[in-house]
Amino acid sequence: MTRILAIGECMVEMAPTDVAGTYKMGFAGDTMNTAWYLRRLLGTDHQVDYFSAVGTDSASDQMLDFLEEASIGTDHIARSPNWTVGLYIIQLNEGERSFSYWRGQSAARTLAQDDTLLENALMGADVAFFSGITVAILPKGDRDRFLAILAAFKAAGGTVVFDPNLRPKLWKSKEDMTSAIMQAAAVSSISLPSHEDEAEWFGDTDSLATAARYAKAGARTVLVKNGPAEILIHADNTVTTLSPEKIAAVVDTTAAGDSFNAGYLAAIVQGASEMEAAAAGAVLAGKVIRSRGALVAKAT
Ligand code: ADP
Repeated sequence: MTRILAIGECMVEMAPTDVAGTYKMGFAGDTMNTAWYLRRLLGTDHQVDYFSAVGTDSASDQMLDFLEEASIGTDHIARSPNWTVGLYIIQLNEGERSFSYWRGQSAARTLAQDDTLLENALMGADVAFFSGITVAILPKGDRDRFLAILAAFKAAGGTVVFDPNLRPKLWKSKEDMTSAIMQAAAVSSISLPSHEDEAEWFGDTDSLATAARYAKAGARTVLVKNGPAEILIHADNTVTTLSPEKIAAVVDTTAAGDSFNAGYLAAIVQGASEMEAAAAGAVLAGKVIRSRGALVAKAT
């Protein structure tokens, strides 16, 4: 049995319905989306847990119910009466989606306050999965300790998987973001960046430059996603590429990267080669972007 611990922030999502002015409540967030797809792809002989923090209000209760219904383990999610969960609203304006976020009171920002909680959650885990958003929401001191715990987990034989998921709005400055992202990359065994974002913030000229930077930081495997363009796989000092299937009817690219990560990781856990796993990631992401929303049940 493989036990995967995904670490980060899940939020309440208010998504517009077909009736103008009305919204449907759901739950989403990059690391949770990946956990959700992993849970659906992996059989019951594997375990997928989520590590975060929530409040004690009813929105937090509903979030935990949602995770439990999805069979994602919630035993290590801390609860605090002083906080709640983050929220975002999706607005549609002539077909264009825009997002407004309320995450200042999100308990997830405190997830690394107490080292022992994360250390306990990692006990018996084989894989820890986190993202650039996970580190962006942490205060600097907590972030440093959080990354030190992941480094120790990796040193003890665990696999640390990181999606940089660059979100400049969550950082004070470009320098804060890029230095923290590379600090996180340094504790990771597998890095799963998306070239377009990386090119913008790190100035990478191509996917190979992105892969080389993450490999140099310490990852043994780097997969560089690039929307519809070819995926670059840098593993065991060799570089290969794979073209995702062309999709004419892209409906919504939300969670393309998150679902790709899940398809890839589930395949790796089940013994696939890097190439097979990248293909599995691309197939799942390809199905997810043919439908609206982050969590597409019929894609799995
Ligand atoms: P992110 O959501 O992190 O920005 P990408 O946009 O790079 O990630 O997409 C992740 C994966 O989703 C790609 O590697 C590819 O497999 C698939 N994908 C995304 N957009 C498309 C598209 N337009 N056509 C086909 N596949 C796509």
